[in-house]
Amino acid sequence: MNLPPDYHTHNYLCRHAEGKLTEYAKAALQIGVAEIGFSDHAPMEQDPFDSWRMLRTELPCYLQMLEQARTEYPQLTIRAGLEVDYIPGMESWIKELAGLYDWDYFIGSVHYLDNGWDIDNPEKKELWEKADVDKVWKLYFERLTQAAQSGLFNIIGHCDLVKKFNFLPKSDLSQSYRQFLQAAAQTGTAIEINTSGWDKDCHQAYPSAEILSMAFQEEVALTFGSDAHSPGDVGKNFTNAIKLARHAGYTHSICFERRRPIKTYPLL
Ligand SMILES: [Zn+2]
Ligand SMILES: [Zn+2]
Repeated sequence: MNLPPDYHTHNYLCRHAEGKLTEYAKAALQIGVAEIGFSDHAPMEQDPFDSWRMLRTELPCYLQMLEQARTEYPQLTIRAGLEVDYIPGMESWIKELAGLYDWDYFIGSVHYLDNGWDIDNPEKKELWEKADVDKVWKLYFERLTQAAQSGLFNIIGHCDLVKKFNFLPKSDLSQSYRQFLQAAAQTGTAIEINTSGWDKDCHQAYPSAEILSMAFQEEVALTFGSDAHSPGDVGKNFTNAIKLARHAGYTHSICFERRRPIKTYPLL
């Protein structure tokens, strides 16, 4: 077993992934990740919201599947998490969610910007053609900074998801990146290396090597996530991600239990 914990995985409940939690757990054991964390898209306070998350009424089913995976695979450390959308104004719902179960961590992700635009949605890719790309990137990192400052999350997900379709800014946004990372460091919020970006138009992990090096300088802790949408993707590209992390200076990833960092895992 020499791959770090995979803390970012989905399942069939979010309507665009496949497989039950037990299948992801089985895959985790096969590939040899140290721990698996489930982090499906959290329900919103009111349904319907969008087409890519569990309904509020399905949360008990998610938790039941999680308990079942823990029962079937006692030899595997299974963490209970959610990938929670950070949208200003929804803080009280996020706090309510946090009280609904004995979670190990929350990944805070920004998918939505203003006007209900989920910037990574392939069905809305044409909105990128009309957008002021630099402005969108700037707003994205402002939102991430707010998410980190909120202290509502243990990990910020795929922190440069805004590059997914390869619409890249012309100006230097390094100050925006640093502001976000300093906010993360201040609140003890980690970031993740999300390996799913390698399979997208940007052909890079999230975040870029530049942001990752900056994160290391700012002493922001790191987790690994495949963002698996099928069991076969658990731990995908982790060997490359370890190289990237080590190149940035990281020697360990961090583990969460009951929403606190409990230990580190060496990147070998
Ligand atoms: Zn996401
Ligand atoms: Zn995800």
